[in-house]
Amino acid sequence: MNTNKHVAIIGGGPVGSLAAIYLKRRGYQISVFERRPDIRQQVINQGRSINLALSNRGLKALAEVGVIDKVKQRTTPMHGRMVHSSNGNVAIQPYGKEGQFINSISRNDLNSILIDKAEEMGTLFYFDKRVQHVDIESTSLTYKLDVDSITKSFDVIICADGAFSSVRSSMQSEDYALEYLDHGYKELHIPAGPKGTFKLEKNALHIWPRKSFMLIALPNPDGSFTCTLFLSFKGNPSFATLKSDEDVIDFFKKEFPDAFYFIPDLLEDYNSNPTSPLITTKCNVWSRNNILLIGDAAHTILPFYGQGMNAGFEDCRILSQLLDQNNDDWNQVFALFQDLRKPDTDAIAQLSLDNFIEMRDHVADKKFLLQKKIEAK
Ligand code: FAD
Repeated sequence: MNTNKHVAIIGGGPVGSLAAIYLKRRGYQISVFERRPDIRQQVINQGRSINLALSNRGLKALAEVGVIDKVKQRTTPMHGRMVHSSNGNVAIQPYGKEGQFINSISRNDLNSILIDKAEEMGTLFYFDKRVQHVDIESTSLTYKLDVDSITKSFDVIICADGAFSSVRSSMQSEDYALEYLDHGYKELHIPAGPKGTFKLEKNALHIWPRKSFMLIALPNPDGSFTCTLFLSFKGNPSFATLKSDEDVIDFFKKEFPDAFYFIPDLLEDYNSNPTSPLITTKCNVWSRNNILLIGDAAHTILPFYGQGMNAGFEDCRILSQLLDQNNDDWNQVFALFQDLRKPDTDAIAQLSLDNFIEMRDHVADKKFLLQKKIEAK
């Protein structure tokens, strides 16, 4: 047991909360600093994906820490991609053998389950506390409390502060790169039908591939779907060419006629939801002294393989395994962790980029559309 050591985690997102559970199991004192309010009290959508695909890699970690049953109550299985072609045909492409599937889950639900569990185990969460500075030499962090700045020291600081990690920037010199894709994304909403019915096939990830852009939709347990439009920032069509309400309506009517019909608040969603960038980070230094980066802070990947959070969950599982194997000798574990994880996260980063081309383009090719044809209604 390591009850004497106090670990701070910056970021109470999915990866930070899961890391808290894993480390609490090992007997550490854990304090999590999260810049946002408590998501269990107030739904916060900062334009990040509302629901996520959870696959075996992530499920394995969730099972290990004993939250799998709660999580499974909130998931919707997706057995394949349902491809909506330009000509109105709809066809399913199974993800694997019969009985295999990935899971759609709300980010808020999943994150809340993890925070609940970490708190039950004795983790202290400090919400509304943005960490302003991390001192690498003294393993301390500084956050603002009203007008004062508070500085606290820890034995170890784990930075799970996401894709735009400010700690990562202060830890690296020229040793990391942040690459923006030409495409960005915007979320839209297909509401549930009467009595919570699904207006599209429930157990599928829907894709409208259109070569240089695409729309996807993932099911939610209440019968609604969260759609994401992936479109370039420049060229034609692009977010830049959809200037007026009329442009948006014409674009959707032409490119996604069936989806257009199911998104009653298209203009409201389009105009009020942010257009967010898509980035990949390549980071060559994951730790310094007693500070470690995990999750998106260490390796932000494009969302097209649905593996960013899953890979972050795998980070937590592997970190705990290494602590086990090395008697909680953090210095040893830090080096091993990066050596073990970086080749895998680099590989999934590349696969995610490749899958963008596959999803928006090749899935619509005739040879991929043999399985099951359904006439669009
Ligand atoms: P985050 O979720 O970004 O959490 C970081 C937390 O740190 C946040 O709560 C933030 O408020 C907090 N924070 C930041 N800075 C500070 C600070 N200075 N002080 C205190 N707190 C701070 N992954 C999948 O596995 N499957 C999917 O289907 C999938 N779909 C996606 C779709 C889209 C459109 C996008 C953009 C991503 C998708 N991802 C998916 C990736 C997934 O969202 C991320 O990999 C995952 O959220 C990473 O978790 P994290 O906890 O590392 O970071």
